Amino acid sequence: MLLLGNLFWRFSGEGDDLMWQRSVYTIQHMRRYKAQLRAILHSPIWQAPHSVDIDIEALKAAGISVLVLDFDGVLSPHGDLEPLPEVKLWLDRCVKSFGADHLYILSNKPTLAREEFFKQHYPGLHWISGVRKKPYPDGMLKIIELSQVKPEQIALVDDRLLTGILATLIAGTRCVYISQAYSRFSKSPIHEGFFALLRALEKFWAR
Ligand SMILES: [Mg+2]
Repeated sequence: MLLLGNLFWRFSGEGDDLMWQRSVYTIQHMRRYKAQLRAILHSPIWQAPHSVDIDIEALKAAGISVLVLDFDGVLSPHGDLEPLPEVKLWLDRCVKSFGADHLYILSNKPTLAREEFFKQHYPGLHWISGVRKKPYPDGMLKIIELSQVKPEQIALVDDRLLTGILATLIAGTRCVYISQAYSRFSKSPIHEGFFALLRALEKFWAR
């Protein structure tokens, strides 16, 4: 547990106080939303192995008009600066179908380099930063406000049950859970191993 806590502190990039506050917040809310998290984990409709497996037209038919994307694990392995080539093709289809103005990126690591990539290659797409990290619902609430769309018409695509997916439950929006996050163990085995363990633990808890 000590090792896990130490790794969490190193990888979260937050100060001690913020990390502990977010951990306490997560524990309080994961209990409250356990039934809903379990339902999402077992739902064939609101989950996909990878982002590229998401049927864009089916999402639209289900009433989704604003799509929010997490970065790490969803668009690329952890720490990459841009999406994987096959994800870029899928993103192009999202832009065509939803319109760039209805697409948002909400990452717990909204680095400048990543933001620059999207500014350059996906003009009009919204980049959310300056909000508290998921599972705080701040990013989703900001998107509800900016898009002027009902919460149930907004879906976040995320690979973490206890960060992104929990944030959508708190904010009252929809979600698509990515069950097989992108990872590259050869590049950063400790980093990827840590997040793989977190994903496995939260799945085990919610099953
Ligand atoms: Mg992620």
